[in-house]
Amino acid sequence: MSADCIFCRIVSGDIPSKKIYEDVDVIAFHDIHPIAKVHFLIVPKLHIESLASCEVQHQSLLGKMLLLAPQLAKEQGLAGFRTMINTGREGGQEVFHIHTHVFGGGDTLPKT
Ligand code: AMP
Ligand code: ZN
Repeated sequence: MSADCIFCRIVSGDIPSKKIYEDVDVIAFHDIHPIAKVHFLIVPKLHIESLASCEVQHQSLLGKMLLLAPQLAKEQGLAGFRTMINTGREGGQEVFHIHTHVFGGGDTLPKT
């Protein structure tokens, strides 16, 4: 837990979120600035800065986050979706607590 981390504060309930899933390791909630009809974030409760800070002991947690994407996307009514993990400032990361973006719905997403 990092007191000045917005996602740690969401995990602790200090800051409200539109939560769609929670278990002992992970929380998922809608992105506050969606870039698609449905856009949510899968966030581990453990404060890890980014994918670049992950080590071998985080392997199962990372796998859990990834496996949750299709399950939650289906529950949100998405037939297909895109996942994205921004890493580092140059990778477009703004919140330095690792998270997976999951988004889709409406029109087919453009090719990247
Ligand atoms: P990134 O650029 O990958 O670090 O993405 C951070 C994401 O967190 C952005 O898409 C923001 O819109 C989202 N975000 C920031 N604050 C909140 C919040 N309080 N609740 C939900 N999503 C948020
Ligand atoms: Zn954090």
